[in-house]
Amino acid sequence: MAELKIFVGGKWQPGTGKAMQSIFPADGSVNATLNAASLNDLEEAIACGERAWRDPAWRAMMPHARARILSRVADLIEARVDELAALQTRDNGKPLAETRGLVMSAAGTACYFAAACELLEGELPTPRQADLLTFSRYEPLGVVAAITPWNSPIASEMQKVAPAIAAGNAVILKPAEATPLMALELARLFEQAGLPAGLLSVLPGKGSIIGDALARHPRVRKISFTGGTSTGRHLAHVAAEKLIPASLELGGKSPTIVLEDADIERAARGICYGIFSSGGQACIAGARLFIHQRIYSTLMARLLELTRALRIGHPLTDGVHLGPLISKQHRQGVMDYVQLAQREGGRLLCGGEAPADPTLAAGSYFQPTIIEGLSNRARVCQEEIFGPVLVAMPFSDEADLIRQANDSVYGLAAGIWTRDAGRALRLSEQLEAGTVWINTYKVFSISTPFGGFKESGLGREKGIQGLKVWMQQKSVYLATGNGINHWCD
Ligand code: NAD
Repeated sequence: MAELKIFVGGKWQPGTGKAMQSIFPADGSVNATLNAASLNDLEEAIACGERAWRDPAWRAMMPHARARILSRVADLIEARVDELAALQTRDNGKPLAETRGLVMSAAGTACYFAAACELLEGELPTPRQADLLTFSRYEPLGVVAAITPWNSPIASEMQKVAPAIAAGNAVILKPAEATPLMALELARLFEQAGLPAGLLSVLPGKGSIIGDALARHPRVRKISFTGGTSTGRHLAHVAAEKLIPASLELGGKSPTIVLEDADIERAARGICYGIFSSGGQACIAGARLFIHQRIYSTLMARLLELTRALRIGHPLTDGVHLGPLISKQHRQGVMDYVQLAQREGGRLLCGGEAPADPTLAAGSYFQPTIIEGLSNRARVCQEEIFGPVLVAMPFSDEADLIRQANDSVYGLAAGIWTRDAGRALRLSEQLEAGTVWINTYKVFSISTPFGGFKESGLGREKGIQGLKVWMQQKSVYLATGNGINHWCD
């Protein structure tokens, strides 16, 4: 069992906060122990960050040199994919096939922002006045906060750290309590890649203590947060009070729609992946399923067949579809929702409990679960469960379908399955969601903006604007003639 140090202003040192552990959800064993960051550690990280981002050598570093650091991070990740994937699997229990994908996506993100950093251009507007040149350039914000959840650490952390560094800021990363391993490893990768000391600190610890103090700190000039909607709302208040920007990637309860002309096999497989991969612990999980009543029984029969055949097992074993959920406490919350669904009149078609296999008894495993017989107003259709629970509902009328799909406080993602591309595009315009997938689900591209409508978030990550959100624009006016201002005459 390792005893971990934390990364403060470019130095590895023991945290001076309370003792904490990283637990392997597959069997409850302890991966590592460490001391959380304290408020003193936070002060030190911020002071180092202030010095580092203001350092003239860093401010003057040419974009290609900054890009090279990010490219080196990508190379270092690619050289260690299996090892990093196993580390992340130990931290949050996701099966290896998924964590390998997340590790590769983190390498891709570092490469993308290396390129974006080199391509970033200021603006040269044509002034509406003679003898004047105006230009507008993008400058860093300063010390910025990145606060992340436990479900996809390396990917969501890179999505914040890479553009923040490319933009010239100093980043303080506060990972989720459950998953400190990956964020600390990320710090090591940036250190090995030659990032100047102080530009990245990683402060594990409790959100209500170290996360809150980080967000409130007067020298922190932006909050970028991924996590639950209630935490996001709290941080939006903190940001409003300080008048600083906040980017919020929050919860979801995404609808998947299957029209009567859909390819049943493609749709059933896509739906199965969309809800049950990551054990449903994904903000974009397709948790509400609307199926045209004409194909309802055929699609449901195939979906149940596929779901019952999913392999639940130890996440470090290849070929496993579902590993454990993050903790037994979280599993209890998922189970409570299944019981609530049944009390509300839902019929359990499969799952609904922990697997019977005694070799999995020590882990927080839960079977993929499908429920029908509920309306979209049921609490299990309105609240985020963040587990492998799908509620299926038939529909017949398109206008009513759209009303139900949009009847949610969330608006993160939506899926449509149909052979009619025109109809899919028309429906996509009516859906209140930041991402709409048509005949696919839960696929991503780093160049395509991501974020939520309604209570699913504020702002967008990824894409070229995913770099600009870490910068502020400065406009400069230069008089090109020798004209004199006659106001004082
Ligand atoms: P959470 O909101 O409990 O915690 C997220 C992070 O915020 C953690 O690092 C936590 O320590 C910190 N935190 C908690 N209270 C804080 C406070 N008062 N001040 C500052 N920081 C605080 O969420 P979680 O349980 O870790 O993650 C699950 C949630 O994340 C789900 O709702 C899921 O939908 C959402 N999520 C959203 C996206 C997205 O991109 N939209 C991606 C992944 C997860």
